[in-house]
Amino acid sequence: MSELYTLSITEAGDLLRRREISSVELTRAHLERIRAVEDKVKAFTLITDELALQQAEEADRRFSQGDTLSPLTGIPIAIKDVISTKGITTTCGSNMLKDFKPPFDATVMERLNAAGIVMLGKTNMDEFAMGSSTEHSAFFETHNPWDLERTPGGSSGGSAAAVAAGMAMGAYGSDTGGSIRQPGSLCNVVGLKPTYGRVSRFGLVAFASSLDQIGPFARSARDAALLLQAVAGPDPRDATCSPRAVADYSEGLNGTNTSLKGMRIGVPEEYWVEGTQPGVVKAVRADIERLRELGAEVSEVSLPHTKYGVAAYYIIAPAEASANLSRYDGVKYGYSYRDTDDMWEALEKTRQNGFGPEVKRRIMLGTYALSSGYYDAYYKQAEKVRALITRDFDRAFEQFDVLVSPATPTVAFKLGEISDPYQMYLQDVFTIPANLAGICGVSIPGGFSDGLPVGLQLLGNIFAEDVILRVADAFEQVTDYHKQWPQALP
Ligand code: GLN
Repeated sequence: MSELYTLSITEAGDLLRRREISSVELTRAHLERIRAVEDKVKAFTLITDELALQQAEEADRRFSQGDTLSPLTGIPIAIKDVISTKGITTTCGSNMLKDFKPPFDATVMERLNAAGIVMLGKTNMDEFAMGSSTEHSAFFETHNPWDLERTPGGSSGGSAAAVAAGMAMGAYGSDTGGSIRQPGSLCNVVGLKPTYGRVSRFGLVAFASSLDQIGPFARSARDAALLLQAVAGPDPRDATCSPRAVADYSEGLNGTNTSLKGMRIGVPEEYWVEGTQPGVVKAVRADIERLRELGAEVSEVSLPHTKYGVAAYYIIAPAEASANLSRYDGVKYGYSYRDTDDMWEALEKTRQNGFGPEVKRRIMLGTYALSSGYYDAYYKQAEKVRALITRDFDRAFEQFDVLVSPATPTVAFKLGEISDPYQMYLQDVFTIPANLAGICGVSIPGGFSDGLPVGLQLLGNIFAEDVILRVADAFEQVTDYHKQWPQALP
């Protein structure tokens, strides 16, 4: 393939700076690609083609003036519809926000606009980021570019599918319990969840505030490094955003130094649970051997409280969601039921009509867990488990630089295949602990099982994004999984 949409961000950036291609050409190539495959994939809730071309022209103007503002200047990118975009519909996959145009940009958006990106559109997602398949979007399902009958994963399924299908050079998503890494894994792209507090949450529609993080999707570790660099760093508008200086994520990712000599890699023994598909286990075991061949010291480690992760998460996340979603009352903003003079009826019908079934389930679960008499038994207990899981990681990172595991227990499943919510929740068994502990993690293309992508998860200590990216980059130098294009598309 030699089409412009197959370039990496690094390659495209070089061509743009040398003025061998223009951002308008690059953007048109992506809009054409969208026209060719979007009706099959359905990754976007909104395509902002006019804006994209305007931004591309602006980027070209900057290049002609010799401004080299950012490695992302003029690069076409897609944004999950949970990130507020000023004056541009931000639906969060929900009827509640179907027509909502935020009066401000998220901090992440401000930074991307200042960098001069080209925004191609907003991407489909599970309603309020609750789900693992994008089937809970109030609007439509997104299809996995590797097999159109299968889910791309979720909740950031639209962003992952857009990057996998060549409709965007990179994308942003949000990860509360796995929503970047799991769809990354199912779509064969790099999906990185930063350390809690590395990226501002200002303007990210809240799901579970102590777990949510915005992060990038890309087709290589190097592109992911550039995308993370552009948005990471302190923000006075988010008190949970860390003041700590941001590392140079691209440093050392030049492809010449593939040795992992001295890198201590732990393999958590609890991450090989029953129910993990044999094809996934086989691919990830082979990946671990690759890391060993690259010079890493690999040994087993125990994270004994892993098995309580999903249970604790499904108390804490719904509890926080029930509080965060109380703002959708039909008065402040969003959908409002107006066919009554009775205030209580209006409130009730607004929430009844505005929210879908999964969101209602979470609100009920969360409200129950926080109610008097149950708070101690459920919420407080879950917070204690969270502390134990964090301590497991603290101990492991005294001995290891990186932990590796499968990103998901299965490859992409069929749309409609999982109807039991509990089975769906188990999709995130390997990703949830990192959110509970606040550490960073990335899923990278780690091979295939029956033609479907398998994700390799690399977990790093807090603020060790540079370390996991270095390992990911070294792995990419000796494998070509990340270079494979989905066969289900033209
Ligand atoms: N699948 C998990 C959930 O449904 C995680 C979602 C996410 O990370 N936003 O809550």
